[in-house]
Amino acid sequence: MSQKVLTIGEILVEIVATTKGNGFLEIQPFIGPFPSGAPAIFIDQVGKLGTPCAMISRVGDDDFGRLNLNRLAADHVDISGIVMAKGETTGSAFIRYREDGSRKFVFNIANSACGKLEENSEIEQLLQQCRHLHLMGTALSSPGLNKMALKAIQAIKSHGGTVSFDPNLRAEMMTPTLHADLDAVLAQTDLFLPSGDELFLFTRAKDEHTAINELLNRGIREIVLKRGHQGASYFAEGKRFDVAAHSVTELDPTGAGDSFGGAFVSFWLNGSSPQEALYYANIAGARAVTFLGPMEGTSTRVELEQFLNVAK
Ligand code: ATP
Ligand code: MG
Repeated sequence: MSQKVLTIGEILVEIVATTKGNGFLEIQPFIGPFPSGAPAIFIDQVGKLGTPCAMISRVGDDDFGRLNLNRLAADHVDISGIVMAKGETTGSAFIRYREDGSRKFVFNIANSACGKLEENSEIEQLLQQCRHLHLMGTALSSPGLNKMALKAIQAIKSHGGTVSFDPNLRAEMMTPTLHADLDAVLAQTDLFLPSGDELFLFTRAKDEHTAINELLNRGIREIVLKRGHQGASYFAEGKRFDVAAHSVTELDPTGAGDSFGGAFVSFWLNGSSPQEALYYANIAGARAVTFLGPMEGTSTRVELEQFLNVAK
């Protein structure tokens, strides 16, 4: 039986403008609600691959919450650690793409049900049961989730489990307290999954080679660097593997990194070689961008295997 994977963090719905333009200052059409939240997309991908998994989070007692819970449960995620909070509202994000590909958001996350977490017996049980924890920077940067995230690392590590970490943070979100917490998490990280320039949030190095070596020397065993439409690279002591991205028509880039991460962690925990995990994760990321909606492009193993034939 494979090791059970746990993640902690935000669950929200995404509502996407169907026309491009600058924001929401006029009446306009939307499509959604789509189930979303980076850790939710990650764990949905893990569940779809058949790896036992669970999430700790909160949603409101509303249809946006039910939509997310139904999706995660259908995709084999244990939702016992997701509280449906009476009288509260599920997180949401309205998104509109501009012509140049950049995005404008209206968020309701910090003040929504997923903005804080409280311990309960189901959560306690998951902390005892799970053997791998995947953390994202957003859980650390949120004051209401931060304590639970740090506690979960201790719990998983004290049972001999492993930790993967995807920073999913931009430089402008950094504060001194967050920096200290990130350093503490990094010191416990077995598998680090930064994307692009996030690599440089954790080192003074100015070039990729030096940054990777510094992080490996700090005790992280494996690093997978996501490079968007330029593919991805795997690094460990004395090892490096690269994959070029598959050529696909990008419909919606949101969720690529989380689908990639969910696939990589799932194969990695189930005994695949790093090359094999990278091979499948690279397909999961490519497939994710061909679907509109952040969680719509998570894949089963069969879908990953068939994708390259279909995409050609
Ligand atoms: P996110 O927006 O979900 O946080 P990220 O920045 O963490 O994404 P990316 O590097 O954008 O992660 O994407 C993860 C992986 O998905 C890439 O390394 C690549 O394998 C695949 N991928 C992403 N975009 C594309 C694309 N346009 N074409 C093909 N593959 C892609
Ligand atoms: Mg990311």
